[in-house]
Order: sequence, then structure tokens, then C-alpha cells
Amino acid sequence: MITPRPWLSRIQPYRPGTHAPSPDGSLASNETPLGASPHVARALAEAAAGAHHYPDPLAGELRAELARLHGADPDQILVGNGSDELIYLLAWAYLAHGGHAVCADPAYRMDEISSQVVNARLTKVPLRDWTHDLDAMAGVEADIAYVVNPHNPTGTVLPRTGVERFAAASRARLVVVDEAYIDFTDDPDATTAMPLARDGRAAVLRTFSKVHGLAGLRVGYLVAAPEIIATLRSIRAPFSVSGLAQAAALAALRDHGHRRAVREHAREQRDALTGLLTRAGYEVIPSQANFVLVRTPDERRMVERLAAHGVAVRPGTGLGVPGSVRMSVPSARGMELLEKALA
Ligand SMILES: *Cc1c(COP(=O)(O)O)cnc(C)c1O
Repeated sequence: MITPRPWLSRIQPYRPGTHAPSPDGSLASNETPLGASPHVARALAEAAAGAHHYPDPLAGELRAELARLHGADPDQILVGNGSDELIYLLAWAYLAHGGHAVCADPAYRMDEISSQVVNARLTKVPLRDWTHDLDAMAGVEADIAYVVNPHNPTGTVLPRTGVERFAAASRARLVVVDEAYIDFTDDPDATTAMPLARDGRAAVLRTFSKVHGLAGLRVGYLVAAPEIIATLRSIRAPFSVSGLAQAAALAALRDHGHRRAVREHAREQRDALTGLLTRAGYEVIPSQANFVLVRTPDERRMVERLAAHGVAVRPGTGLGVPGSVRMSVPSARGMELLEKALA
């Protein structure tokens, strides 16, 4: 009987967030309650007519639009089947067979799992005041240093100056900054590490799953030095991003109004959610993402009580922060469910 490579047995599989009976109560996966831009449905219907064609392997049109948006060269951009695919590609290219990665503890789970898949060494540096301990991380001689900004599962944000100093000081050969939640920060333009990605000092990961509301279609992208993009291109599955996903991402990208609406909604509801939880006596970690991390002495009881009121949240234990619960910003109806559950 064949057996898997021995290091694979250590992997704790990724556990997705659960769903509540209603979408309004589903607060476990950081999806926007506003959904995708209305233009997406039209783009999908049009693209469906071409379902018998293989997709453009390099998502040329989308890549060109992203290049314009970020002031980068198209050769600095790789579109993937969600950021998850790109995280795996980075691990295969730069961590397999004896590589070393450094990340925060708790980390974004995919950064951990991808390292374990290729049997890389992984150094986890505990957070300090709920944010990355960049000084301690900089001293680790690694192939890749992962920075998640804002961080998941805490929602805390690092200033660009901090990330810039880290990129200069880090002993890692590549700094990867995952900006899945950057749109929800107070000042995305001043916070993003995109200027570093443009001139090759870091690699930046973005996703269409959060502010664009396309989590179900799987599109993310990496902005990095052309050599890195060329390497990842040479090892990827050529048709990993479907034509429907590419069309939807283009439509979403062009709807600036919807993006703004999702951002504003998340920020308002985040403040309301933080207020509600604080008044109920909980400690809430200050977040600039579309979720908050709530501290609770009895995580399981809180998860069960919310579930009994039709609200699904993410238990902190599965995210590496026992004694906590992570909640995505809800719709107005979701907020009412929460209010009743906490009363
Ligand atoms: C949600 C999230 C992503 C998005 O992953 P996709 O594969 O693009 O859906 C990436 N990084 C972090 C830290 C996230 O929380």
C-alpha cells in the first residue's frame, strides 16, 4: 500500500468557517454582506458563452488593468486561483527541499500549511501587542518572511514605514506582504507595500475575495520582481484561473463605486460591532480589517451561544488564538441577531 511522504502527516488540514442558517448570520469567513458588484453577474453571463474555450493562461486583460492600477509592469504581476494558489507556488519555488520560512504566531493558516506541504522549516515569532514583532522576525535568516497586513486573525495593522524598515533589515531573501484586507484600513494608499513591490524590495499579495466580494470565484494576484513572476509562471498549472473568474474580476475591478461602498460599509459596521461587544464587556482587539478578534474567557460557550441564535463565528483555537472568537462585520440584520445573542 502506498503511503504519503512522511512529513505530510503533521499537517492539520485547513478548516473552513461554518455557515449559519442565514447569510446574515454567517460571520466566519470575512465575506462581504454586500456581495459582488452587479456588473459581475452580467460579465459572468457573457463569459459563459465561451465556456468551451480554455482560458487565457496569463489573464492578459486583467493583468494589464492591474498593472495600470498599481503603476507596475504587467511582467511584475501573476494572477492565481485565489491568493492561496500563489502562496503554494511561492512555497514550491522557494521553500521546497530544505527551505526556511518565518511568519508570525498566530500565522495566516495557508502560510503555515504551504510550508509544511513542501517540508520546509517554519519559524513562528509570537505577536507583540497583537502585531507582528518585526524586530524579532528580521533577525531570522529565512528564504521567505511572511507579513500579513492587516493581520489575520487579529485585524491589526502595521504602518508602511515599519514594513519598509523590515524589508531593508530582514535577513530573509524575500519578504511577502499579504494585503488581503488593505482596502479596509484607514489609509490604504499610505499603508500598502505596493511601492516596495514595484521596485523589487518585497512581493505583495492581493485577493478579489474580500473587498470585491468574489471569494467563490477564486482570483488573487502577486506583484513582485519579474524574475519571481517568471519562475512562478514556469511551475504553475496553466489554466488555474477560469475564464469566468477572469471576466468577473475585470468587471469587479472596474466598479470603483461598489468597492468604495464595501469599504465604507465594513468600516461603519466594524465600529458598530466593536461598540456592541465593548458595551457587552468584551475586550476587542483594535481592527482595521473587515472582522474583529474578541477575547473571551470561555470561547466554546460563546461560539455555542451565538450558534443557538443563528450566528456562525470562527473559534480562535482553530486560528491559533485560544480564548478568542473572530467575527466578520455583519449586515444590519446580522447585527440584530448578534445583539439578541449577547443580551
Ligand atoms: C482571505 C484571505 C486571503 C484570500 O485568499 P484567497 O485564496 O484569495 O481567497 C489571503 N490572505 C489572507 C490573510 C486572508 O485572510
